[in-house]
Amino acid sequence: MSIGVAVLGSTGSIGRSTLQVVARQRERFRIVALTGHSNKDLLAQQAAEWKPAFVGLVNGGTASCLVEAATHPDVKIVVNGIVGAAGLEATLAALRAGKRVALANKETLVMAGELVTEAARQGGGEIVPVDSEHSAVLQCVAGRRPTELARLILTASGGPFRTWGPERVSRATVAEALKHPTWTMGKKITVDSATLVNKALEVIEAHFLFDVAYGQVDVVIHPQSVIHGFAEFVDGSVLAQVGFPTMELPILYALTYPERVPDTGVRRFDPVAAGTLTFEAVQLERFPAYGVGREAARMGGTAPAMFNAANEVVVQLFLDEQIPFGRISEVLERVVAHGHPGDATSLDDVLAADAEARRLAKEFACS
Ligand code: NAD
Ligand code: MG
Repeated sequence: MSIGVAVLGSTGSIGRSTLQVVARQRERFRIVALTGHSNKDLLAQQAAEWKPAFVGLVNGGTASCLVEAATHPDVKIVVNGIVGAAGLEATLAALRAGKRVALANKETLVMAGELVTEAARQGGGEIVPVDSEHSAVLQCVAGRRPTELARLILTASGGPFRTWGPERVSRATVAEALKHPTWTMGKKITVDSATLVNKALEVIEAHFLFDVAYGQVDVVIHPQSVIHGFAEFVDGSVLAQVGFPTMELPILYALTYPERVPDTGVRRFDPVAAGTLTFEAVQLERFPAYGVGREAARMGGTAPAMFNAANEVVVQLFLDEQIPFGRISEVLERVVAHGHPGDATSLDDVLAADAEARRLAKEFACS
């Protein structure tokens, strides 16, 4: 019997890659539910091809369709490929219903990490990361005891502005920010990769996924995006996961974890073709927003939720050409400094912090 899969955000970059992976694994998996937001035509096309039991359109339909898709009785695995806070309710509902959530939607783990991990504990669901760095770490630590793990090192490509001076970066255009050197992704995460906010979100994501203290999560710039993450163990030994950049591998692993299945869909690794691999320390002067995100992580409580919500607002303002690139980190810094972070143990607290940060970000961006 094949395993039922729901793909939330099936029209996006992660959603489309997921359907490509499942297309090669049709004897193992079947698509039970698909949801889209505004790309109605592509969703209709996907529905015609996959004939799922459930199809939900958020925009023009209702947001509750996400929860319906995520908790459908025939679904065992929910791939959450939604961008931003909108994915939270569905993740919570799926985990409470005992499903596996293959999580790409990192924003919701950042905003409500305690609630999400608690929902998994309560409902017997499990969170398996789709994010390539976290998939890498999971592949390195799978089968080890948590006490054997000493440190994680997440890699970052450094984005399109890695070698630019701060002055030029502050005036970068939308087109320049969307030109990612190694990955093709949705617009929001591509901008987050240019500011390195993405890596701050991933540090927080790693904290909740692997139950490690923030002091045990380091980041290194690795422009070739061939090594996706390292795990250092207490004896000093370090494992890394390696491959040419593709999301299809981490998506497949999130579906089959802890097993591996044969798949010939991705380019096989070749060290000679990979060439020279280089590593650089993150320079905070060049990526100030990354420093703000780490500070929000250190503050804890609802501070990460506020950082995430403010970032969603300013990234959209930047994409709409309402603010210059340099403004993103300025606004984030002000929101994290001026907000009033509290406990993140109830959904109401988290949603209130999210709303306060959105309001502050709009106010600071326009002043
Ligand atoms: P995308 O913009 O390509 O796709 C987003 C999907 O979410 C679309 O299907 C869209 O219809 C849907 N969506 C948008 N707003 C919605 C809303 N309010 N309600 C319901 N659905 C909505 O983005 P993406 O690049 O696929 O990224 C999705 C998530 O995966 C993000 O959290 C991102 O950080 C994470 N991620 C992406 C990649 C990648 O390679 N693309 C890698 C790692 C992590
Ligand atoms: Mg990543």
